[in-house]
Amino acid sequence: MAILQEIQQESMQIAKDYVNEVYEAVKKRNPNESEFHQAVKEIFDSLVPVFAKHPEYMKYSVLERISEPERVIMFRVPWVDDQGKVQVNRGYRVQFNSNIGPYKGGLRFHPSVNASIIKFLGFEQIFKNSLTGQPIGGGKGGSDFDPKGKSDMEVMRFTQSFMTELCKHIGPDVDVPAGDIGVGAREIGYLFGQYKRIRGAYEAGVLTGKGLGYGGSLTRTEATGYGTVYFVEEMLKDKGLSFNGSTVVVSGSGNVSIYAIEKAHQLGAKVVACSDSNGYIYDPNGINLDTVKQLKEVERKRIQEYVLAHPEATYVEGCEGIWSINCDIALPCATQNEINEDAAKLLVANGVKAIGEGANMPSTLEAIDVFLGNNVLFGPAKATNAGGVAVSALEMAQNSSRMPWSFEEVDAKLHDIMKNIYTNSITAAEEYGQPGNLVVGANIAGFIKVADAMMAQGIV
Ligand code: GLU
Repeated sequence: MAILQEIQQESMQIAKDYVNEVYEAVKKRNPNESEFHQAVKEIFDSLVPVFAKHPEYMKYSVLERISEPERVIMFRVPWVDDQGKVQVNRGYRVQFNSNIGPYKGGLRFHPSVNASIIKFLGFEQIFKNSLTGQPIGGGKGGSDFDPKGKSDMEVMRFTQSFMTELCKHIGPDVDVPAGDIGVGAREIGYLFGQYKRIRGAYEAGVLTGKGLGYGGSLTRTEATGYGTVYFVEEMLKDKGLSFNGSTVVVSGSGNVSIYAIEKAHQLGAKVVACSDSNGYIYDPNGINLDTVKQLKEVERKRIQEYVLAHPEATYVEGCEGIWSINCDIALPCATQNEINEDAAKLLVANGVKAIGEGANMPSTLEAIDVFLGNNVLFGPAKATNAGGVAVSALEMAQNSSRMPWSFEEVDAKLHDIMKNIYTNSITAAEEYGQPGNLVVGANIAGFIKVADAMMAQGIV
């Protein structure tokens, strides 16, 4: 028995050393890319027990290969604004991993976009996409273009210029972009139109998140938000809890947040707060979602205006304060690193029971430690928000078969996928000695499928 334990400890140490060595190499090769380092660190640390059990992955340098993108494309995006002035932005597409399917992942248009942000998103996408059980690889792209305050025509000219370069690198069996922050139905429409014009062919499956009239899938708009709530519902159910009667805080007011609020309401919760990049609103009566939808989806206005229609609500400038609101469940659906250690401690002190990450990497590594250390149920982004890209894969399936499915059909498939992601993650956590830790479980479950495909396909 003692000998067995010694051997186990020794293989854990070898695996730990290997993971640390590769992590240091990643940092050295990608200097000043803190978000990318953060995403890599979270996954690498989870994988130590996997390497201890499967030394063959070390032998074939799976970690060295998976953390180096297969291809990074960076390009100039020149366009002319409404004043006739030439503007220059930078475009990116990181094609990270294609072992289990064509590269798949969104495009983000936001001034904060740089190589580090796109790489962290692309890296996470590999594991998220694997977790969905769908045949999709990992990729991500975007630009430092800021759609805020731009006219429709400016957005169109920019996206057309962006696609004029991007189209050389994508295709329904090659790389399939979609939306993310700053890229919604309008942008996908313009991108698709330009792609179709340049290709001279109707390749519907080249982009997902399309409009329903030209190849889009029902439920895709709702998928990330609904999926987040479906996942958290599974976490709660395991502990005999539910959304019904609970108080919820959702950050953000974009596509993910809006449909997370909608589903939480449908399940009997009261969502009392949401936000945008300027500040947050608190409505003790529960947020009126019609008002939020009108402001954000139709009028493209700031969340501050919510209080004009609902004087009982309050608006607070700045976003961090949203985590000081008492709640049972917090769904960070805005952006990366929006919950730091202090915010996490505040949530815990106020009695939060569950966190479901709707945004990508919204909690810092220190915040995650606070949640896990205090036995707060924690659904990590890769698992929790995978519903969006999962339904994107279902959109690709419908495009290939030229047969659209009903809302109920897609929603039922989404629900099943989220349940499976939960079961696979919780099972992997248990199997690798960290019961209940969904961060570790999701990372391991997502990794193993890709790693096995990499082993099967040789050193490529
Ligand atoms: N941007 C979303 C994500 O972070 C969706 C990507 C997609 O549908 O391809 O997963």
